[in-house]
Amino acid sequence: MSPKAKTVLITGGGRGIGRSTAILCGARGWNIGVNYAADAKAAEETVAAVAEAGGNAIAIAGDVREEADVAAMFDVTIAAFGMLDGVVNNAGIVAPGSRLADMATDRIRRIVDVNVMGALFVAREAAQRMGQSRGGQGGAIVNVSSMAARLGSPGEYVDYAASKGAIDTLTIGLSKELAGDGIRVNAVRPGLIETDIHASGGAPDRARRLGVQTPLGRAGKPQEVAEAIVWLLSDASSYTTGALIDISGGR
Ligand code: NAP
Repeated sequence: MSPKAKTVLITGGGRGIGRSTAILCGARGWNIGVNYAADAKAAEETVAAVAEAGGNAIAIAGDVREEADVAAMFDVTIAAFGMLDGVVNNAGIVAPGSRLADMATDRIRRIVDVNVMGALFVAREAAQRMGQSRGGQGGAIVNVSSMAARLGSPGEYVDYAASKGAIDTLTIGLSKELAGDGIRVNAVRPGLIETDIHASGGAPDRARRLGVQTPLGRAGKPQEVAEAIVWLLSDASSYTTGALIDISGGR
């Protein structure tokens, strides 16, 4: 008998790593809440791709910076599919490369609001909904950090790197806090992955350009990150919690 289909909410699931994760989950026959911030068309394309892969998905607009939006994306996913087994805390942004001394306050605040506050809101909601001590069934949280947490991104975006350092620490602490509550908490740390995020940081060719300098000699594909995320969501990783998995071509 094939294992029970899981229901997973993916923040920032419309494009990039989130989209690839949704599609791989779909290939397992899972149900996916595809959250997005603004690009409804991309989210609908992801929903269609999940269905084509063999799963079920719905698109859910919502800004992870807003507590009410976060609560609503959980409500909508659970209402559509009747349960929740996993959450991928994936929504994240960068900004154009700059030294910290030259960064505007608004930019730093936006990075921290989305990448740290948003991730904390989503993780808190996941703990409330899935925690066995609160009537949930347990589950898995996968946080999407970055190699920037270890490398620090000097001269490029130390604000972003610091926000991802916070994600690593959140992963370690929350994994211990929720271990007795039936929830595993892990993170992936992607390196240079070919997605639109680099264009939003003003350098569309960044992953390809710098990817050749990695030990594996190339940038990664979002599917290569998604494979690890799906493993961490699945029962195959049942003894893994508090892990930070680097997916960076050896960088
Ligand atoms: P991407 O292609 O730019 O996609 C980002 C996704 O996040 C989009 O779906 C976007 O929604 C959503 N999003 C942005 N702000 C949001 C908000 N406030 N609320 C809800 N959703 C929001 O980025 P990506 O490269 O796939 O990145 C995904 C994650 O991987 C991020 O956390 C990023 O830091 C991390 N990461 C990426 C790389 C890389 O090289 N690509 C490396 C290390 C870590 P819309 O589609 O509506 O705009």
